Amino acid sequence: MPLELSDDHKLLRSTVREFAEQEIAPVAEELDRTKSFPYEIVRRLGELDLMGIPFPEEYGGGGGDTLAYALAVEELTRVDSSVAITMCAHTSLGTQPIYLFGSEGQKLELLPSLCRGERLAAFGLTEPEAGSDAGNTQTRATLEDGGWVINGSKQFITNAGTDISALVTITAVTGAEREISNIIVPNGTPGYEPGEPYRKMGWNASDTRPLSFADCRVPEANLVGQRGAGLRQFFHVLDIGRIGVAAMGVGLAQGAFDQALVYAKERRAFGRPISQFQAIQGKLADMSTEIEATRLLVYDAARLKDAGRNFTLTAAQAKLKSGRLAVEVADAAVQIHGGYGYIEEYPVCRFYRDAKILTIGEGTDEVQQMVIARALGA
Ligand SMILES: Cc1cc2nc3c(=O)[nH]c(=O)nc-3n(C[C@H](O)[C@H](O)[C@H](O)COP(=O)(O)OP(=O)(O)OC[C@H]3O[C@@H](n4cnc5c(N)ncnc54)[C@H](O)[C@@H]3O)c2cc1C
Repeated sequence: MPLELSDDHKLLRSTVREFAEQEIAPVAEELDRTKSFPYEIVRRLGELDLMGIPFPEEYGGGGGDTLAYALAVEELTRVDSSVAITMCAHTSLGTQPIYLFGSEGQKLELLPSLCRGERLAAFGLTEPEAGSDAGNTQTRATLEDGGWVINGSKQFITNAGTDISALVTITAVTGAEREISNIIVPNGTPGYEPGEPYRKMGWNASDTRPLSFADCRVPEANLVGQRGAGLRQFFHVLDIGRIGVAAMGVGLAQGAFDQALVYAKERRAFGRPISQFQAIQGKLADMSTEIEATRLLVYDAARLKDAGRNFTLTAAQAKLKSGRLAVEVADAAVQIHGGYGYIEEYPVCRFYRDAKILTIGEGTDEVQQMVIARALGA
């Protein structure tokens, strides 16, 4: 496949880059420090048609492909991970299951306001006893008098508790023998309570909370797709989601590298810029090489999906590689900043804190290794 981006892709990338540099960069430090959800930025992302990029225009989406989505995610993360994960979790985790498996009625009702970014969607899989082991879901939904009565809890859920959160799609056991289904729970439903936000290492301006369900009743029609298909649906959603998270790793690494390069040329030691020392040059050369190689892997996963080919292996490889890349490059970028890298005055400090989750969220590195080994037939 050719590696050159189309004119449309280049235009999208430059539009998101300009937006991120002009409207996100000036407020990113404050949002992080004050742990404030970026409502105004989400509103602007909606105006720019960036909150529903891969969904068809008939549902209010941007009609873009996976590569376009990955490019946008990369450019946002290059400047701020909290904004990027808000958009990313909303799109590929929150909205995607409704688009892929929802009824036509659910799509027509829910997708337009989600794609416009007026409302946010969340995806609730993880529980205290079910993270990597997603099949161990304990939350239960029982069909009673034409409605699902839900009891249980979720944890670490993104986008569920903001002022504009519309709904969470959760996995719940709906029958005997681990029958798991997906059910939409609108915010405001009695018995559904998003808890207090967590104190996190990073992604401080994004919304992450535990959720509790106590005799929470939703209509039977809130089932997403087939009863019992919940895990299969979510695994497919996670397959796609990996491409977005992998793009976050590349974007974060690129942002950290850009800062390190600027700093290395400005900072002087022993009478010259530190960029003239071979040890620093070696780091910068390795960082840029790894970023470029990983970027190609991420784009390849997106292109495979867009070409209708099997992308599971490549998406997992891209996610595994790019999470590690983000951690390594952020570490090297802090190192190049010396003591200033440890001080919040420099954005690279935030990038370092934001990087680690990329080896954990949406499937840990160890889970990616399992997916890769399985795809290799090992
Ligand atoms: C900020 C944040 C946002 C999140 N957002 C969401 C969200 O929106 N929706 C959602 O559903 N979840 C979300 N998560 C949850 C996230 O996806 C899980 O934390 C992740 O999948 C790991 O699950 P766990 O935390 O239960 O770890 P565990 O599954 O308990 O894993 C602990 C360790 O054991 C390893 N391990 C587990 N099983 C195996 C095995 N078979 N072989 C080898 N190693 C293994 C893991 O790799 C890990 O290193 C979020 C988490 C965070 C921190």
